[in-house]
Amino acid sequence: MGKRKARPPRHKRQARQQGAGAPARADVVICDKCRQSFKIQPRERQLEDGAYAEEHYFACPRCGAEYLMARISARGVELRARMAEIRGKLRTAAGEERQTLLRQAEQIRWELDPEVTGAQA
Ligand SMILES: [Zn+2]
Repeated sequence: MGKRKARPPRHKRQARQQGAGAPARADVVICDKCRQSFKIQPRERQLEDGAYAEEHYFACPRCGAEYLMARISARGVELRARMAEIRGKLRTAAGEERQTLLRQAEQIRWELDPEVTGAQA
């Protein structure tokens, strides 16, 4: 039998970036209430009680309508702080230490996901 060249699987081709047709200025929105268009300026506030510790939102500069972006649980806030710490260390870490940090960051990303709710309105 002659040698047969294995064909590379078609689906291996890199998926094109999603949202190619999306507007370039994705952070500009139109207020549902007053129709003012404005640039999103994310803000956050601490929540006193309930399941979530922190809320990320932005507000319309004209009418003050608020739009929720995400909520983060207390554990999520904690994980995010650890992530920031790791990112800081990654700036100078090299070799094996760097690999360890990258693995930790990946792990935290997994754990963080369910602690954050994105409000995809
Ligand atoms: Zn408005």
